[in-house]
Amino acid sequence: MESIYNLTYPKMEQWALDHGWKKFRVQQIFKWLYKDRVYDFDAMTNLSKETREALKKDFTFNPLTLVRKQVSKDGTTKFLFKTHDGALLESVMMVFDYGHSVCVSSQVGCNMGCAFCASGLTKKQRNLTTAEMVGQVMAVQQELDKTGQRLSHVVVMGTGEPFDNYDNVIDFVNTVNHDRGLAIGARHITISTCGIVPKILEFSKGHYQYNLAVSLHAPNDELRSKLMPVNKAYPLAELMDALKVYTTENNRRLTFEYILLKGVNDTPKHARELAKLLRGMNAYVNLIPYNAVDEHGFKSVSRAEAMVFYDILKKENISVTIRKEHGNDIDAACGQLRIKEMRKEKECKRTENQTSD
Ligand code: SAH
Repeated sequence: MESIYNLTYPKMEQWALDHGWKKFRVQQIFKWLYKDRVYDFDAMTNLSKETREALKKDFTFNPLTLVRKQVSKDGTTKFLFKTHDGALLESVMMVFDYGHSVCVSSQVGCNMGCAFCASGLTKKQRNLTTAEMVGQVMAVQQELDKTGQRLSHVVVMGTGEPFDNYDNVIDFVNTVNHDRGLAIGARHITISTCGIVPKILEFSKGHYQYNLAVSLHAPNDELRSKLMPVNKAYPLAELMDALKVYTTENNRRLTFEYILLKGVNDTPKHARELAKLLRGMNAYVNLIPYNAVDEHGFKSVSRAEAMVFYDILKKENISVTIRKEHGNDIDAACGQLRIKEMRKEKECKRTENQTSD
């Protein structure tokens, strides 16, 4: 059965009309779902019994089950979820001085194959539905509700490539942002892409107020293609052109993510090349400390080494920040908790098979 979290406000209105109901019913339903945050149709006491029965007949609530929660010393909390078909996915809640942010996964596994990333260790099994993304946010908010706190930011930076699951991701952020949904401001919502040019152009036409972040990680095609296979399909010149269209048409500032990988993309020459590439763009660079992934062999740089790179960009008049690390003590890199759990499940199966032999 379908989860009610799959329906954006306009889609729910259509559902209401199809059932011969007045549209305003949806106001009541959305208030129960996203303001009062009940998880049972019978709790929606201002709806008639027939309405509740009709909802129950068509919809369920959160399609995700919580498998495990890991809390770090700094408050960072990792949530491992299972879908109805047994897939595992991860979300991370981080505490900042400006509020609580959740990092949401958009796919089960990922096909982008970035050389340094834990997510790509398993190929994409499928896209997540809108409900499975809304479900991640609702489960985290449900946790925060226990202490009367509220999620203030959402980033689509977990496992998966959001622009490879474009329609569901847009429906998801629209529900999170909607006044009658979770009402999280568009400027507090960020979508991060590895650079799928046609989708960047489509997003640009949508004139959304959501933030766009682009994973760059290299200042030239040769290196970027080695690190990120997507660069072979959409090389830097095409990517930069599309991003210029986006910033001009939307009058929005872009974020470029740049992981510093020791001895790979972190030299002063790379910094100067990056400055040249970004010159004149309405953008800033977010330097990301690398979370080592055992299988890949890349190394992170020290704080002092990151500062050298930072200083060169600053001197070249490029806006730049260094991302603060979170949850270092709890399988920090995206997707690592999920991979660990998958290995464990495999181990269990192997032992089961051995014992049944
Ligand atoms: N596919 C999207 C969103 C998911 S990845 C994208 O590529 O942007 C989110 C960010 O985390 C990307 O910038 C990605 O390159 C980065 N990332 C991946 N693995 C990482 C690791 N081990 N340490 C630090 N950042 C990592």
